[in-house]
Amino acid sequence: MPGSFVDGEVLDLPGGPIEVHDPATGDLVDTVADVGADGVDRAVQAASDAFPDWWATPASTRGHLLRDGAAAVRDAIDELAPILTSEQGKPLRESRLELSRAAETLEHYAGLALAIRGAAVSDLDRGARAMVLTRPLGVVGAIVPWNFPTTLLSNKLGPALVTGNTVVAKPDETTPLTTLRFARILHESGLPAGVFNVVTGLGATTGQAILDHPDIRKVAFTGSTPVGRHVMRTAADTLKRVTLELGGSDPLIVLDDADVDAAISAASMGRFFNCGQACLAIKRVYASESIAERVAEGIAAKARKLVLGPGDRTGTQVGPMHSADGRELIEAQVADAVERGGEVLAGGGRPEGDEYGAGHFHQPTVVYDPAHDARVSVEETFGPVLPVWPVADLDEAIARSNASPFGLGSSVWTSDLAAAMQAAERLDAGYTWINSRTKVYDELPFGGVKQSGYGKEHGEEALSFYTEQKSVVIRT
Ligand code: NAD
Repeated sequence: MPGSFVDGEVLDLPGGPIEVHDPATGDLVDTVADVGADGVDRAVQAASDAFPDWWATPASTRGHLLRDGAAAVRDAIDELAPILTSEQGKPLRESRLELSRAAETLEHYAGLALAIRGAAVSDLDRGARAMVLTRPLGVVGAIVPWNFPTTLLSNKLGPALVTGNTVVAKPDETTPLTTLRFARILHESGLPAGVFNVVTGLGATTGQAILDHPDIRKVAFTGSTPVGRHVMRTAADTLKRVTLELGGSDPLIVLDDADVDAAISAASMGRFFNCGQACLAIKRVYASESIAERVAEGIAAKARKLVLGPGDRTGTQVGPMHSADGRELIEAQVADAVERGGEVLAGGGRPEGDEYGAGHFHQPTVVYDPAHDARVSVEETFGPVLPVWPVADLDEAIARSNASPFGLGSSVWTSDLAAAMQAAERLDAGYTWINSRTKVYDELPFGGVKQSGYGKEHGEEALSFYTEQKSVVIRT
């Protein structure tokens, strides 16, 4: 049983066993402990002890260590990718891509090490000058879900570590194995003991202990909106800062003057990547009436061609869903869409065949024009199903897009610059892509509005969520 990674060591902390299963086969991959409050306390102690020295380490050195860590992760991709596929389910190609993105994000923050500055203020009272210092917060708790265990961790580790904080991270209970190995690799490449610790366990016990711990100054959380609300409420008791990266229901709008084939490709890739289990997946399509059927049929044709299979099989393009519960929810949402008038153009349910029997497979599915109050419209769909609706014009597309409680990403496809700019300004979301696939850039601030969260990851902006300012007045 792999232990938690605390103070530069693999520690066998006690706690009820949690089984990690392969989503493609149901096979047991490994077992970890639910370390609970005692385990979290041990990790927070290590992170607190490591904090003064890490803070005192020059930012440039912190940057070098992050860059070395990223290089070591890149060197270990062949070893890490099969572990990630075995616990998460995604195709090996996507595991490799995820790990390389995780390394890229660490490199990005390594590059920002020298951008961490304070300020000097000279025009105060006669004979008074001031400095505004930028300081780290202390120990940061990072709670991460299972869909992209390593990139979502890097989004927190990069800005937290480069600004001088130390970290206690908890991966999802179903995907702890890659993260544990990741932490060891960063330590072996030079990150001092205690700077980055990983504890394993359930949300309600070990995760909760992170929220409750008085010595954790901030919680960086990625996960579902209901748990995000709980994180924010609980953080109030110890006045922790929070960043919340939560659910989404990203719309993609295609107007009739768009490059329709390119929009179809972007929608298909944006929805079915990672078996549809991405916060920023395209989850709704609104297309001009004159092209809506062509758009829906185009996406359906691509969906039908996708090769479904276990992630470790050559040629697999879409793996299993991560969990039985997740698949059941998607099935219920598809059934509801059909009841409310939706026409299934591709997929619709579980694939047939013995090879799929033990895994959580669901076919890539396209549903055309269900009622606008169907669950696929008002809820987040976290799996491979894409509803497509016809709309009269841009105004209707924007109104329907904004009717969702979520506001993470959004896309618009049109050759009319004015329409594109209108959409960019009026869509309630943290990101709008115009005639572009939904690629996330480390350089740009990322984070949702409304029920999609609070705070930013990525970009220089993320640094401010891991630092505080202190004013110092000097009489001259
Ligand atoms: P989840 O909220 O159930 O779990 C996320 C993490 O929180 C896990 O580590 C879990 O163990 C922990 N957790 C659960 N209960 C807890 C508690 N009471 N206290 C502390 N920690 C607790 O999330 P999920 O459903 O497994 O993940 C998918 C969700 O994450 C989707 O809604 C998706 O959109 C969202 N997500 C958002 C982003 C983003 O950047 N906005 C990125 C990826 C995923």
